[in-house]
Amino acid sequence: MDGLATSLQKRAKQAGIELDKDQIGKFLLFLQELQEWNRKVNLTAINDDEEILVKHFIDSLFCLLGVPSKIYQKIRKIIDIGSGAGFPGIPLKIYQPRFELTLLEATRKKVEFIRYISGKLGFERSLEVIHGRAEEYGRNGEYREKYDLAVSRAVSNLAILAEYCLPFVKIGGIFISQKGREIKGELQKAGKAIEVLGGRINKIIPYKLSLRGEELERNLVVMDKVEKTPEDYPRRTGVVVKRPIR
Ligand code: SAM
Repeated sequence: MDGLATSLQKRAKQAGIELDKDQIGKFLLFLQELQEWNRKVNLTAINDDEEILVKHFIDSLFCLLGVPSKIYQKIRKIIDIGSGAGFPGIPLKIYQPRFELTLLEATRKKVEFIRYISGKLGFERSLEVIHGRAEEYGRNGEYREKYDLAVSRAVSNLAILAEYCLPFVKIGGIFISQKGREIKGELQKAGKAIEVLGGRINKIIPYKLSLRGEELERNLVVMDKVEKTPEDYPRRTGVVVKRPIR
């Protein structure tokens, strides 16, 4: 485990993030439990330790690059939509324990894992795990327009994501979508949806992950929530995917 601890610390530092001993310990515990559960239930396709460090942990932490420094201190409530095995939400919570985190996930076995790991990491009191769909919870008054920051990785294309995620963000808050290398076409197609749902593109931030000599290109799409989301959105489960706003 020592080698992994050093690798994680070094890689985080290269991304501009300092991790202390306690945070490293939490990441290693997360890694160990993820690997153990993954042998029994399929949580993630990646099962190599170093690859998990880079493609899950470090990649999740890169989300922080998208938060403008002038609002960082004010961020308290975060929602991760389609969190899967906890990405990017749990790494963000390990890094910044002050965050009050909601993980929303539609698949039961993944929900069971994130509930378990949240307890193991001692986050029960400031981490809520919801088993459900964005289309339902985005209409629920307890969650709608209540978050300073929404994040989402590898869930859908931007037009659909805007409808899943923007309803949760309060005016003045932001939505960060973690994307791969190619985003131009997606961005063009999502313009109308973002506008209709009360968002506005703030910036696109390209970044790179490096793994065994390979450079992996990624992008953060950062949107501001500038207006209230109209009450008709999000539409029902199924409709959002079948008829994206164009
Ligand atoms: N964000 C994680 C990551 O990057 O490792 C998981 C990505 S996985 C490919 C997509 C996840 O989104 C799945 O676990 C799926 O169940 C969840 N999901 C898809 N649509 C959803 C929706 N409408 N509401 C809630 N979760 C959703």
